[in-house]
Amino acid sequence: MPSYGFRSPSFWFSNLDEPVVPRAPFDGDAPFDVAIVGAGYTGLWTAYYLNQRDPGCRIAIVEAEVAGFGASGRNGGWCAYYFSGIESLIADPNKREGALALQRAMFDAVDEVGRASTASGIDCDYAKGGVLIAGTSRPELERLRAGYDEMREYGFGEEDFRWLDANAFSERARIHGALGGTYSPHCAAIQPAKLSCGLASFLETRGVAVFEQSPVRSIEKGVLTTDRGRIRADNVLRCTEGYSCRLPGLKRAILPLHSMMVATEPLPEAVWKEIGLQGRPTFADHRRTVTYGQRTADDRLAFGTRGLYYYGSGIRDYFERDDPAFAHTHATLLELFPSLSDVEITHCWGGALGVTRDWLPFIQFDPTTGLGAVGGYAGNGVAATNLAGRTLAELVLRETTERTSFAWVNQPSRRWEPEPLRWLGAQGVRRMGEWADAAEEKGRHAGIFGRIFDAFASH
Ligand SMILES: Cc1cc2nc3c(=O)[nH]c(=O)nc-3n(C[C@H](O)[C@H](O)[C@H](O)COP(=O)(O)OP(=O)(O)OC[C@H]3O[C@@H](n4cnc5c(N)ncnc54)[C@H](O)[C@@H]3O)c2cc1C
Repeated sequence: MPSYGFRSPSFWFSNLDEPVVPRAPFDGDAPFDVAIVGAGYTGLWTAYYLNQRDPGCRIAIVEAEVAGFGASGRNGGWCAYYFSGIESLIADPNKREGALALQRAMFDAVDEVGRASTASGIDCDYAKGGVLIAGTSRPELERLRAGYDEMREYGFGEEDFRWLDANAFSERARIHGALGGTYSPHCAAIQPAKLSCGLASFLETRGVAVFEQSPVRSIEKGVLTTDRGRIRADNVLRCTEGYSCRLPGLKRAILPLHSMMVATEPLPEAVWKEIGLQGRPTFADHRRTVTYGQRTADDRLAFGTRGLYYYGSGIRDYFERDDPAFAHTHATLLELFPSLSDVEITHCWGGALGVTRDWLPFIQFDPTTGLGAVGGYAGNGVAATNLAGRTLAELVLRETTERTSFAWVNQPSRRWEPEPLRWLGAQGVRRMGEWADAAEEKGRHAGIFGRIFDAFASH
């Protein structure tokens, strides 16, 4: 497929039906009602719902590269119910009721991504096969069970979370060493770049202006500035997630953490018979250092592991194939499915996701200045960005709804520590996670390492 000078940042971009042709940059000086910085899912869904509710609203999306270039075109394609940090909100009796409503809104967001993409003629390989999480050691299984019991205590039923013993689990997926695990139907596997590219194209047909190759250099009340001009708008919304630290004054607002992925060649039916995953459920084990995988629509395994932070909030857009991180991700995939040792890895890529200091996503909007910002999904944004987009659209239209009352709206967020503390902290917490995982793998409880990891990686 011709690339038109555009270097694909992920398997998902390489796997699109049509080549990506970058749109023209913004040039000049122009007025809009709403200007959105960043054409990832957050910016795109916000424009989508604004346009739906107020078709006359003049909207511009300004993107540094191309739509979906960030995490939205690189992720694992889990369109999942999970909302980062929800446990801490549910655990707080003062916030519990709202947090449970937020959790139910997340269940709905998984379906809404399917509904909205279908209604817009976007085929993003959406398959709602649910999500399977395996416990592969006794301690891991116990932690998984404790989380499951808690959700059941808070009123979620079998229709939301199911406990599977080893046999029931293996009927769905043959993950090596799985002693049991959970299943939730609230997850769909998608092809991420098909969704971001599809949304951008759809929005254009609805009259939304999408400018690409236009890095925004500054964001102020009523105006954003690029190298080639200024967009004036009553509402200016920053949807830049892990890349936010590149903007003036935001170095310590969001920590860019990189997640790494590999994809196999298409696998024959005999392999699927062996490993399961009929109906394309997404899957993971419950190690602290995070795994996530999906069976793609063209029968590959796409699989990822989390965790690289580069000094000074560095962001890497492209990675060399021989980067040791991919060897780690591949080796982890083989731990889950040892029989795939001869299968070829055809694609390797990584991307930056955004983490706030308290690991909670945020939606900020000030109706007096018209300035807004959203992000911090901590690697769980495929469905959450949809909910965020709907919520931000309502805030911009000065509407009050149940969504605008959720606990992530207009809450203060702590800043990250300055360097070298940020780097030291990130390395240290990652190491604790690895030690905790290694202990649990041997059937031992993770003890102090696990507690330190849990305290820092979720608060
Ligand atoms: C490898 C990986 C795997 C993941 N897997 C999953 C998963 O399976 N499930 C899940 O729920 N979540 C996952 N995530 C997280 C999820 O992809 C993100 O939470 C979500 O895509 C965030 O969308 P966004 O629009 O907020 O940010 P992004 O998609 O990162 O978009 C931000 C956009 O802003 C642009 N931008 C930044 N600065 C500027 C500027 N100054 N001017 C103009 N434009 C700018 C960027 O180029 C980018 O396109 C994963 C993330 C990664 C990296």
